[in-house]
Amino acid sequence: MTRRRWIADTWTATTASLTGDQAAHLARVLRAEPGQIFDVVAGGFLHRAEVTSVSDKDVLFTLHEELEADAALPLHLLLAIFKFDHMEWAIEKATELGVSRITPILARRTEKHLALAAPKRAERWRRIALEASKQSRRTDIPEIADPATLKAALEQEQSPTRILLSETEQATPLSAALAASARPTGYESVALAIGPEGGWTPEEMAIFTANAWTPVTLGPRILRAETAAIAAIAIASSCLA
Ligand code: SAM
Repeated sequence: MTRRRWIADTWTATTASLTGDQAAHLARVLRAEPGQIFDVVAGGFLHRAEVTSVSDKDVLFTLHEELEADAALPLHLLLAIFKFDHMEWAIEKATELGVSRITPILARRTEKHLALAAPKRAERWRRIALEASKQSRRTDIPEIADPATLKAALEQEQSPTRILLSETEQATPLSAALAASARPTGYESVALAIGPEGGWTPEEMAIFTANAWTPVTLGPRILRAETAAIAAIAIASSCLA
């Protein structure tokens, strides 16, 4: 039987604890008791863990052996900021699909009020990623970076494979660009950039070109940004597997 999995709030080499809502849920709803066994992620490692004490405020565990766990996809999503409800949906689904990092991008066509509010939203996006990580039984939580301008994000990008989703590109499908950049040892890391609802501006396209990003298409239909993000991650994950 699949054991319930928890992501520890604090941990040492041999112990872990859950606090806040997680502890309250374990104590009040699941009525956890000392001696029960769960899977607990502590510091990015998955362990079999035994409950040693339970209260509404914290649940303590002794960590037993480390268990095998799936690694995150080596995928960095640069996601132009768009309407927050759609953005939250995209972050949740991208987390479920296994991306390792998301950078929200302040694009030229990101609506002004969204760009102004974005820095304060980052904490909420991190909480969404945490909840989606638990729900999807990930052993890690994707990093949600602080919102950045496109120029700053591209200057810092380390991934050797850099792919720009562009609704104006017609020749190169995403799968072909990924196949062309494959190495015998696999992919070190892949960066995927998705534009805002209004698309990338010509100036932004020029910045991508100057930083050696490959434009690709997802087909003839214009997708909403969040649909494009999910479709691109699904295609990339089948190539990276
Ligand atoms: N304003 C644009 C238009 O009406 O032509 C549409 C932008 S689209 C809603 C938002 C983003 O999703 C694009 O910048 C691109 O990154 C991605 N996207 C949407 N459809 C795509 C496609 N068929 N191929 C590649 N990327 C696509």
